[in-house]
Amino acid sequence: MTSDLQTTLKINEIYASLQGESTFAGQTCVFIRLTGCPLRCSWCDTTYAFQEGTELSLENILCTVRDYGIPLIEITGGEPLAQKNVYFLMQALLQQHYQVLLETSGALSLSQVPSEIIKIMDIKCPQSQEAHRNHLDNLHLLIPHQDQIKFVIQDETDYAYAQEQIKRYQLDERFTLLLSPVHELLPPQHLAEWMIRDHAPGKLQIQLHKYLWPHEIRRR
Ligand code: SF4
Repeated sequence: MTSDLQTTLKINEIYASLQGESTFAGQTCVFIRLTGCPLRCSWCDTTYAFQEGTELSLENILCTVRDYGIPLIEITGGEPLAQKNVYFLMQALLQQHYQVLLETSGALSLSQVPSEIIKIMDIKCPQSQEAHRNHLDNLHLLIPHQDQIKFVIQDETDYAYAQEQIKRYQLDERFTLLLSPVHELLPPQHLAEWMIRDHAPGKLQIQLHKYLWPHEIRRR
């Protein structure tokens, strides 16, 4: 795939922060947030990315990213795979030797995502109201011992669903599993207690940035 630097993507924001939602949590990272998402998770915390954004050329995006001088980049959204030109962005970042994370809803196929991209893929739980959108064929496209699967958990029903999916697809044998409580809806201590009670596979994943900057709705 050759990328034309004048190719455009609709970008909601580009900013530097600490990665907060994977095993990379705590590392400095540049976030490229793409506009648009076909899902409507009940607890979505980035609704501002559904519509807002500016068409930026690949050249412009790469210049902005380069100015931060940080080697770890996360492509996020919205749902970044909803824009077909995202694959040009992935290739361009890889060519420039960045380590690239992709945060994705799990509802769209990963078939065109380069293998070098580290996927952090959601499996949506029932309380999101979007579990029917899970594209579970993606489980065959994730790279074992590289890619990560995240369950965002609102209550014990979601937790039970996550454990059932983990067991059914033997996910703990192949992937890092992240269990993330919905911020301000499920106290992390509750999820921690269920995990300890059940000797549950996976890691409790608190959204680090929301504890560091509790009053900022965006750009963190
Ligand atoms: S997939 Fe992500 S951006 Fe889209 S509605 Fe769900 S939480 Fe929001």
